[in-house]
Amino acid sequence: MCSQKTKLWPGRPLPYHDEIFSSWFTRVAHSNGLSSAELYSVCVPDSRLFHIDLDRFPNDSLIEALAQHTGVSYKKIKSLTLSVYHGNVFADQSPKSRLIWIPPANVSVKSFGQQICPFCLLENEEPYARVHWRLSFVTLCPIHQLLLVDRCTKCGKPISLLKLDPILTFHRCFYCGTTLHSGSSQKHPQHAFLLQDMLIRVANGSWAKLGKKHIHPILYFRLLNYMFRLIGCSRFSTGLQDELGLGVINIPKLREIERYNVRYRNILLNLSLTLLKDWPDKFIHTCRQVGISRNKLLKMKFDHPFELVLQIDRYLGEPFFKITSKDIEQAAEYLKAQGIDPTRKELEVLLNFRFSKSHKFSFKETKKHIPSGQSRYWKLDRVNPEVKQAAKKAAHRAGENVGAWVDSVLRKELSRREYE
Ligand SMILES: [Zn+2]
Ligand SMILES: [Zn+2]
Repeated sequence: MCSQKTKLWPGRPLPYHDEIFSSWFTRVAHSNGLSSAELYSVCVPDSRLFHIDLDRFPNDSLIEALAQHTGVSYKKIKSLTLSVYHGNVFADQSPKSRLIWIPPANVSVKSFGQQICPFCLLENEEPYARVHWRLSFVTLCPIHQLLLVDRCTKCGKPISLLKLDPILTFHRCFYCGTTLHSGSSQKHPQHAFLLQDMLIRVANGSWAKLGKKHIHPILYFRLLNYMFRLIGCSRFSTGLQDELGLGVINIPKLREIERYNVRYRNILLNLSLTLLKDWPDKFIHTCRQVGISRNKLLKMKFDHPFELVLQIDRYLGEPFFKITSKDIEQAAEYLKAQGIDPTRKELEVLLNFRFSKSHKFSFKETKKHIPSGQSRYWKLDRVNPEVKQAAKKAAHRAGENVGAWVDSVLRKELSRREYE
């Protein structure tokens, strides 16, 4: 690299129009024989590149130095950062705020904010990461029709372009060097790609269609995020997933929704978009089917967008059914006649209703021990403890729920045998 500060560096790759900053920064570093950390110290003397999401927090002196030594304008470099989504996907720029739909990358071993399509990278003459791969509602590659990849299937580490050794290409894991690939080869229906296209257009500033009106992108993404959390990790998750026809897929409840792997994110996103269909009819109907009232929704510690409060005040304000003591007694009699103990839990299941603590009816409480076949890891019941431990670890690394992971391993093995 040139020692004089004012001269251009020998390696000056031009940024692609849809490239993300950390990708271009890494390419500049590698083309000059440096790692990203080394280039950072060259650009910002006496500083080191620690755990920072450079796409979100590129400091001015870094951009100025890059502009000076690469010949690419300050404005162009700035446009490669996540600031391109400011005002559309997020409104708050303060460093401490967590951005919905843009989880951090490069920060810790749990930062799964960088996604890639390994096939797109392989097909590029010079591989680079696209800016929209940083949006967590983008889960598919429309060209290869596969899920994007956000972690290494071998070691479970997130993707970090900035930590890549100069000898490694973008489609390899920075930690173990394994070629990154999607764990699934499932093809997705055409409408899923159309919906994703729509989301990317809204992220770039188009107003979103919601029912009969058009709303601002910020509001749309807040509503979508609300639905995502409601279906994924609220107390109503199971009921909503059943009602929306999820079937046998068992999605874990993760409070930090940024940690859902791409497969779960894709599923939850499609269910969330279903809830926004024919707004607000589908949402209101589903809430009624699952027994979600206005008060129950507003009690949740979620950030309730105004448009949502408007609709739940209008349609979910009044209780739409009431369970009386007589109903409970009749339900208890019914259970007894079936030879089932009328415990609180059995009654709740039968009536599709959750009793409050103040309910006057005297219930038998459910026994606390968990019988075989009903624990969290029931698919691993009676499995040798060592294998059980290894399976849990492998599922955890893949970001999968243990049950779903066992299921996919069995399916793979069965289809392999079919071809033998
Ligand atoms: Zn691709
Ligand atoms: Zn790895």
